[in-house]
Amino acid sequence: MPATKYNKVCSQCGSDDVFLDASAKWDIHTQQWVLDEVTEPTSENSFCNECSDSTTLHDVAWQDTPADLLHAALDAHFNKKDSV
Ligand SMILES: [Zn+2]
Repeated sequence: MPATKYNKVCSQCGSDDVFLDASAKWDIHTQQWVLDEVTEPTSENSFCNECSDSTTLHDVAWQDTPADLLHAALDAHFNKKDSV
């Protein structure tokens, strides 16, 4: 049984086209920007693209579809590279 996953959706319209303002810092080891301590979503830093406005975010349980699981299994089989 896969663990339950959650999606973040807009509390106004239910869209998952949402963003969270956060800080990133440079990781010299991976040579990538990595998210700093993740900020808790609030109405101050959460934005919904559908509403074109700030919003609050809700967690909704989300199930991998069989197609997603198949693709993930194929990716794992054929792409031996480390996940980023
Ligand atoms: Zn919205």
